[in-house]
Amino acid sequence: MKASFYRDTWAEIDLSAIDHNIRQMAEKLPDTSDIIAIVKADGYGHGSVAVAKQALKAGAKALGVALLEEALELRKAQIDVPILVLGWVPPRGAPVAAEHDITLTFFQEEWLEEISSYTLPKPLKVHMKWDTGMGRIGLRTESELRDILYALNKNPSIYLTGVFTHFATADEKDFTYLRKQQDCFEKLLAVFREMWPHPVTIHTGNSAASIRLPGEMYDAIRFGISMYGLYPSSVVKSEQGISLKQAFSLHSRLVNVKQVAAGDTISYGRTYSAQEEEWIGTIPIGYGDGWIRKLQGMDVLADGKRMPIVGRICMDQTMIRLDQAYPIGTKVTLIGHQQGAFIDMDEVAAHLETINYEIPCMINERVPRIYSGSKR
Ligand SMILES: *Cc1c(COP(=O)(O)O)cnc(C)c1O
Repeated sequence: MKASFYRDTWAEIDLSAIDHNIRQMAEKLPDTSDIIAIVKADGYGHGSVAVAKQALKAGAKALGVALLEEALELRKAQIDVPILVLGWVPPRGAPVAAEHDITLTFFQEEWLEEISSYTLPKPLKVHMKWDTGMGRIGLRTESELRDILYALNKNPSIYLTGVFTHFATADEKDFTYLRKQQDCFEKLLAVFREMWPHPVTIHTGNSAASIRLPGEMYDAIRFGISMYGLYPSSVVKSEQGISLKQAFSLHSRLVNVKQVAAGDTISYGRTYSAQEEEWIGTIPIGYGDGWIRKLQGMDVLADGKRMPIVGRICMDQTMIRLDQAYPIGTKVTLIGHQQGAFIDMDEVAAHLETINYEIPCMINERVPRIYSGSKR
């Protein structure tokens, strides 16, 4: 691995896993449902441009992000497929979105009206968001839908190319609420179809819905977390509806190894005392990298074996208890595989009492992303 960094701490992104996960998903879907690869938040911390390029090679037809800024970054990287911004963009973003052929999400009549006051360099493509029970963004009623369609009809420089909704509980065992959201969506869709004869792309499903109900996904799915090889919840994981490969791994190397005596203490606040003679190693990663203090007590892998983090995690460094002396430069894996051992994202998430989505996002840009396994 040729690397241009001077601290041996890095995240490795296995693009062959992205490729595998997309192909697994595509196999489950009917041919009529396309994949929109969701690469918001810098590709869930994996790197949006590299993931997007691999996702498109694997068969994804479009990309989804949360911010207009994120869409512009993809355009700057010469990616020319449809890009949908899933979040609310202020009307002042419309000219730049139109200029770069970026599709915006809308759901307010006032938003359309404000955009009418701008001169757009090209027509603006938009998808309409319906809030069928997520309670986040989107229009909620038939009368709002009728009003917005009238307003849309009056504005020829805005092209409606899609409508969508988002589920709140697609990853939970009980489908009752999801079915309620689907009913609400179908009711709005009936009104929409009666008023709007033009073709649009209809999409409702995130990873969880797509994996569990692949036959109910209309024209496209919004495939996020599982493209990265992570299950949306323990329920979806246990159902074994798809076999995924985790793309993200996190590594460092020992920079100091020492033997300490019984009673010697480690790190700030002296929260750890050696019980006997022990080998302690130091790795150059800390909360300044997003490897937060609450991870004290987690295991890491060295020599293919689990070793615990001991003492407080510092801003730039973390100490681990080794089972013996190891040379400086020995590879330490904090997330991922090492010689048959594995620390998966879900274990880190469980330690932090959160969801796996949060973990790669929280490892910040101080940690370089290295790509491997690129597929044609
Ligand atoms: C992030 C996001 C997704 C992707 O969800 P996953 O659970 O990661 O698959 C889909 N749709 C919307 C609107 C989102 O914000």
